[in-house]
Amino acid sequence: MHAARLAGIVALLAVSACANAVNPARVAVDRAQATKRANQNATAGWTCAMHPEVQAANAGKCPICGMDLVPVAVK
Ligand SMILES: [Zn+2]
Repeated sequence: MHAARLAGIVALLAVSACANAVNPARVAVDRAQATKRANQNATAGWTCAMHPEVQAANAGKCPICGMDLVPVAVK
């Protein structure tokens, strides 16, 4: 039946409208995460404050003294 199919489409549109209504908050969260990611990308690498020769691509512990690695600022 045509009417039944139309009702299904209308219901689908209503669900889409609800999803769109939720989106602004989700977009804000995505933007915050993107900013956080961009900040991490701005880090050239990680090193130990006590052992500058230590260089790591990701945060972690210094293999020599076990201290938390600190981000190296981009120059
Ligand atoms: Zn160290």
